[in-house]
Amino acid sequence: MISVKKVNNRPLNLLERIYLWEIGRGILVTMRHFFKNLVNPRGLVTVRYPEETLPLTGNASQRTRHRLKVRADGSPKCVACFMCQTACPATCIRIEAAEYPDNSVEKYPAVFDIDLSRCVMCGMCVEACPEDAIAMDTEEIPGGASSRAELMMTKEALLRNLPGEPSPKGAANRLANEYLRARGEE
Ligand code: SF4
Ligand code: SF4
Repeated sequence: MISVKKVNNRPLNLLERIYLWEIGRGILVTMRHFFKNLVNPRGLVTVRYPEETLPLTGNASQRTRHRLKVRADGSPKCVACFMCQTACPATCIRIEAAEYPDNSVEKYPAVFDIDLSRCVMCGMCVEACPEDAIAMDTEEIPGGASSRAELMMTKEALLRNLPGEPSPKGAANRLANEYLRARGEE
């Protein structure tokens, strides 16, 4: 049984029908907030992102910047299967696959770029990955860059992002690169 609540709209009184009065009331509210915030700017509810950020909730389901996971020997868990690239609705993942010489692992990503300027943080790439090789748990919120290039996450940057670690630009993942160098892949 669906209950229906009937709402009787109150008819407008004379002052409300003269819209100038209501416009004046609106301006007064705006001016009140303007002067209040002028006197006490710290009372503003607006967070001046990216200079200021709110603390993350710590909720396990929150999605933050991506990282690529590595195995115990430092090699990327990613097998360059393209599932994440295919699932990504923003088409912001670019993978180029390469093969290990000894075929111990089928493939690895020679290139794995995520363009964070296009990413909508939907988490589909994490859901699609059959190897649990990509995660969004770095507790870093991307944004606040002065150029699009700064938001391009390369494989090296993605491999370096262990949770809670700072992520200086340009630094390569030591373990993963050492592993690939030892195999003559990089
Ligand atoms: S979070 Fe969504 S939009 Fe961003 S890379 Fe993953 S699948 Fe693409
Ligand atoms: S779905 Fe996982 S294993 Fe496949 S390419 Fe993406 S990160 Fe690598």
